[in-house]
Amino acid sequence: MASTVYFGSARQAQLVPEETLPFKLERIIEKLQIRDRVKDEVVAIKMHLGGNVGYSTIHPVFVRRVVDAVKQGGGKPFVCDLSRAVLTAHTRGYTAETVGCPIVPTDGPNEKYVYWYERPFMNIDRWGMGGFMHDATFLIDLAHIKGHPSCGFGGCMKNLALGGFVYETRGKIHDTSHHKKYWFAEKCPDDAIRKKIIEGCPLNGIIEDRNDPRELHLHVENCNQCKRCLNIAPQGSLEIRPDTFAAFQQACAIAVDIVLSTFAPEKRVFLSVANQLTAVCDCFGFTGMSVLPDIGVFGSDDPVAIETAVLDKVAELKVIPENLPRCMEHQPNAGHPFQQIHGPYKDPYIMVRECERLGHGTTDYELVDIMPVRESGVMDTFIDTSDAA
Ligand code: SF4
Repeated sequence: MASTVYFGSARQAQLVPEETLPFKLERIIEKLQIRDRVKDEVVAIKMHLGGNVGYSTIHPVFVRRVVDAVKQGGGKPFVCDLSRAVLTAHTRGYTAETVGCPIVPTDGPNEKYVYWYERPFMNIDRWGMGGFMHDATFLIDLAHIKGHPSCGFGGCMKNLALGGFVYETRGKIHDTSHHKKYWFAEKCPDDAIRKKIIEGCPLNGIIEDRNDPRELHLHVENCNQCKRCLNIAPQGSLEIRPDTFAAFQQACAIAVDIVLSTFAPEKRVFLSVANQLTAVCDCFGFTGMSVLPDIGVFGSDDPVAIETAVLDKVAELKVIPENLPRCMEHQPNAGHPFQQIHGPYKDPYIMVRECERLGHGTTDYELVDIMPVRESGVMDTFIDTSDAA
């Protein structure tokens, strides 16, 4: 059976606030009946609060809508994220006053409040989930949509998978890409050729291993799988393979599985804000130019359905190549727009399909536009917006 995903477009026909995203988010909150579902619940609102001078994370205007709805429904909300993002969140406009509830580190101020899960996968034996999110009784996953250098795309799932776990686990999730060998030093004993391989990559995608100069280290985040390095590397010495890049998303799906296992299916809601879609993740600590047009807001009880719907909407759009940072390349034939930005092996649907396989929802969805944009641009309604000036 198809899952319902509610959608509010960033487009508007009239110059009225009711046709803009905060109001459309409000309608989605109503459709999902969040107020009716949170009475006496301790509600973790998991966000990515960004870092340094980033300003494309979800604006407090949106967060406030969600927090107020929870409070009106009799729930006890708190916003949570990694401790390092929380400690500086006030410098980016997130305070208890602006969002309307406490903002707490998911795993405590010292990243020591942790629940450990044993779940062997590649290089990972145990997974440390943040204790405050674990202790909540209701989850609202409030995600900003953007590109991501490891998996092509960051949305609801990435928000839980990396933002919900301690430093040790996050590091190991990233290291999964290096679990299977891709460099075979014995087939390239010549120092000069190794140097040429490194210098031949225009994206700084391959570097000398810091512990052993004979070993090369794929900088997976930078690599867009153009394979120019394979023209230099001796036969069999270097492999650029899909599984190297898929490992990160497979690990993220396990992390999502762990988080979702701590909340009953009826006690979780997923909201995505798809505006200011930058090339890389909000954890970079800055905001680059938007590389795709604004899309809108999404909401669902099904994490697989909402991620699929977001990705399918993105697939309808064209990358704005001139807005990419000069250190990146646009590959127009690489597939989905996020693959065009990050490379064909960073298929953003991998994590989604993994989560579907793990039983967390369905890629079969029905998209319900909560306020279809009228074709007429004629202003037939006047609403006094002077308070908003
Ligand atoms: S595939 Fe392309 S981007 Fe990746 S390391 Fe090789 S040359 Fe660099």
